[in-house]
Amino acid sequence: MDLIYRSTRDKNETATASEAILRGLAGQGGLYVPDRIPKLEGSLTRLSKMSYQEIAYEVMKLYLTDFTEDELRYCIDSAYDEKFDTPSIAELVKKDNAWYLELFHGATIAFKDMALSILPYLLTTSAKKNNISNEIVILTATSGDTGKAALAGFADVEGTSIIVFYPKDGVSPIQERQMVTQRGDNTHVIGIRGNFDDAQTGVKKMFSDPELARELDAAGYQFSSANSINIGRLVPQIVYYVYTYANLLSRGEIKEGERINFVVPTGNFGNILAAWYAKKMGLPVAKLICASNENKVLFDFFRTGCYDRNRKFILTSSPSMDILISSNLERLIYEAAGRDAEKNLAFMKQLSDQGSYTVTEEMKEAFSDFYGNYASEEETADRIRDLYEKTGYIIDTHTAVASAVYNKYLEETGDTTRTVIASTASPYKFTRSVMQAVEPSLSGQSDFELVDQLYRLSGVKIPAAIEDIRTAPVLHDTVCDKEDMCSEVKRACGIIDTIHV
Ligand SMILES: *Cc1c(COP(=O)(O)O)cnc(C)c1O
Repeated sequence: MDLIYRSTRDKNETATASEAILRGLAGQGGLYVPDRIPKLEGSLTRLSKMSYQEIAYEVMKLYLTDFTEDELRYCIDSAYDEKFDTPSIAELVKKDNAWYLELFHGATIAFKDMALSILPYLLTTSAKKNNISNEIVILTATSGDTGKAALAGFADVEGTSIIVFYPKDGVSPIQERQMVTQRGDNTHVIGIRGNFDDAQTGVKKMFSDPELARELDAAGYQFSSANSINIGRLVPQIVYYVYTYANLLSRGEIKEGERINFVVPTGNFGNILAAWYAKKMGLPVAKLICASNENKVLFDFFRTGCYDRNRKFILTSSPSMDILISSNLERLIYEAAGRDAEKNLAFMKQLSDQGSYTVTEEMKEAFSDFYGNYASEEETADRIRDLYEKTGYIIDTHTAVASAVYNKYLEETGDTTRTVIASTASPYKFTRSVMQAVEPSLSGQSDFELVDQLYRLSGVKIPAAIEDIRTAPVLHDTVCDKEDMCSEVKRACGIIDTIHV
């Protein structure tokens, strides 16, 4: 029987998996959650003999129950191929007191590639299943990284096109270069004269413009979003937790049934929520250690039961975790509230009206799987340097937050459970901050000189994602005013040929 997805904000709104992927968000801002959490089939030892792609199939088939075997295998095989620079897709290496799960071997050398490389295929397959013949147009506003990961995922995927708006003077030079050199006939990258909020507001406006939707539909197009709350991004993230366990088992590092901890550097709560789903599926997991940077809303929440976004937003060296509203936490709140959409909606309303809510004592029980802590900027840099000096291994700033938090956890608990740290970005993605921690005397050098220095110190091959942008030609040079975003979208879709400025 098909697994049904329900909205966290309305008990009467349901969807099949493919419908939930197509819609992204449920009505009233709700998120789709599976009606029940499926259990892994067979023994873990059986999984330990499988490739990443085979494990992906074993996990994802339990969630995407309206996909045929052929459809799902096609999505998996199209996503997890040579785009990754290792045949094992994710690498697992032991350094110092923990294992590091390297989730950065994809096209943009960060963990978002794990889901964004398969989402385009899940979307186009879902469209086909629901008799939608329109081309899917992904519309995104980006402050840097997600835009590039989405571009790389959707580039040249038949039946899709992608339009990314970024603030022309609001992203780093490397981030801009990564985007404007993007290949693929179906990719469009447009700078706007304005800030990220302007880009975001413009995109939101277009999403909710029925007149524009009609015009696009008449021309054979419809919008969709690659947002991190789409279950098409969440489900592929469960895979690598199961893969990690299977891998440790096949190496003889653990015995079947032995529990392990995961440490996850957290922002929007998507990655660690996937680990929680893996645990609920029956994977032997002890603690889920939620690591925050100085934007420590989640640390405070796990400690007090009060989620409070009323605080100063801090810019840190781990920018992908600079978040005050962790959207995916809503799925856990919904579970903790006994899957009561009305109760959840009341909390979310408090969050949007007052910026905070407090869960009941009874609900706190549901969070006992989690341990939360945070690392300051100084602790993060210290951890990068210490680990390098001890082992020669260089981690990025986000991973370093997790590693520093793990050391705090060890000090507090003395827990000897085997532990895996999710390594969410290559150090080459955040070269300047990483080199600042390891070798501060070099801070006068240019970004690319620092890349060469990082290579000299780590001996890790410079990834194609970095080499490419040194030499790749600029393929996108459109810049527009925020008032003209809609015309640019129509032009990208071929609805109008020229715009009058
Ligand atoms: C997005 C991101 C995170 C945070 O992941 P969430 O799923 O949002 O919690 C951590 N590290 C890196 C490098 C990221 O890009």
